[in-house]
Amino acid sequence: MISYKIQIMEQQYVKLMKQCIELAKSGFGSVSPNPLVGCVVLNSNGEIISTGYHAKYGENHAERDALLKLDDARGCTLVVNLEPCSHYGKTPPCADLIIEKGIKTVVYGMRDVNSLVAGNGLKKLQDAGIEVIGPVLEDECKKLNEVFIKNHVKKQTFVALKTATTIDGKIATSNGDSKWITSENARAKVREIRAMYDAILTSSSTVIADNPTMEHKCKIILDRELKTDTNHHNIYKNGKIFVFNALKDGKDNNIIYIKTPVTDNKLKIDFVVEKLYSSGIMSVLVEAGGILNGSFLPYVDKLYHFTAPKILSDNSGKSCFGGKSIEKISDCINLEYEKTELYPPDILNIYNKSF
Ligand SMILES: [Zn+2]
Repeated sequence: MISYKIQIMEQQYVKLMKQCIELAKSGFGSVSPNPLVGCVVLNSNGEIISTGYHAKYGENHAERDALLKLDDARGCTLVVNLEPCSHYGKTPPCADLIIEKGIKTVVYGMRDVNSLVAGNGLKKLQDAGIEVIGPVLEDECKKLNEVFIKNHVKKQTFVALKTATTIDGKIATSNGDSKWITSENARAKVREIRAMYDAILTSSSTVIADNPTMEHKCKIILDRELKTDTNHHNIYKNGKIFVFNALKDGKDNNIIYIKTPVTDNKLKIDFVVEKLYSSGIMSVLVEAGGILNGSFLPYVDKLYHFTAPKILSDNSGKSCFGGKSIEKISDCINLEYEKTELYPPDILNIYNKSF
């Protein structure tokens, strides 16, 4: 009888944690460098009486957002996808507010990887006599905050890469015609993906060949010889723009030039990736041609691969990943499959590289 009751409770916590994850997603693109967090509060009858999420960097954390909507939270259960914080940041610690509001039980999804919290939040709650249950749905909670985890564990920018190809892995014909391999459905999804990352990154060749606008608050161009034209190319029309190049450092309105070391006639990607992190860019989406995609492959944490039901033949197209030829399958770069989404007639496969 007791174990049956526990099972029902566990199922309910899983359901509520999924709700926290959905609430947290509302903060995509606005909370960086903070994590995505959602929160649900239940009364002693198990009814949801408040919800909250972290909407924007500098604003209330999810727990505070949910608790401030309540006059009385005594005896309530609070469910949250990340361990409540115990340190003073832009706002006071959530753990303190949870204690002050008289919450009886806290259900959490994952421990915080931020060294300022890392178990201290849970300990503070337990020391105050609050029942702490978790982790619940830990893998999903970690997936939700993969950028935050990489930033804190590795002290590096999270790198995602998007490419859209024919069935035989081509991104353009040999003369560069690439409009359009994928459908409007897939391209709408690409705009959604862009909004999830702090910045998007492309190459001067893509800017010159396609003259894309790439709407985003922050854009990065790798342009070794400064061949792109700030007056002519659409990418310069809005947002903050970093131009990594071999010639100069400097600033011109919304454009920041960063002089970058060169090896083998290419800008050093290590330098670029480190500079992104030190500039506060916590995540980036690479959208470029095969050569730059190939150079970025060793740094990629996540790959979005759209496939259109089209075929070009062997010698009539440009491959999505350039680079050195590999002789043995055992020397491939291996990725982990995450999931597939359909944008008819195209398919999106998402892969991760474990780090
Ligand atoms: Zn907090």
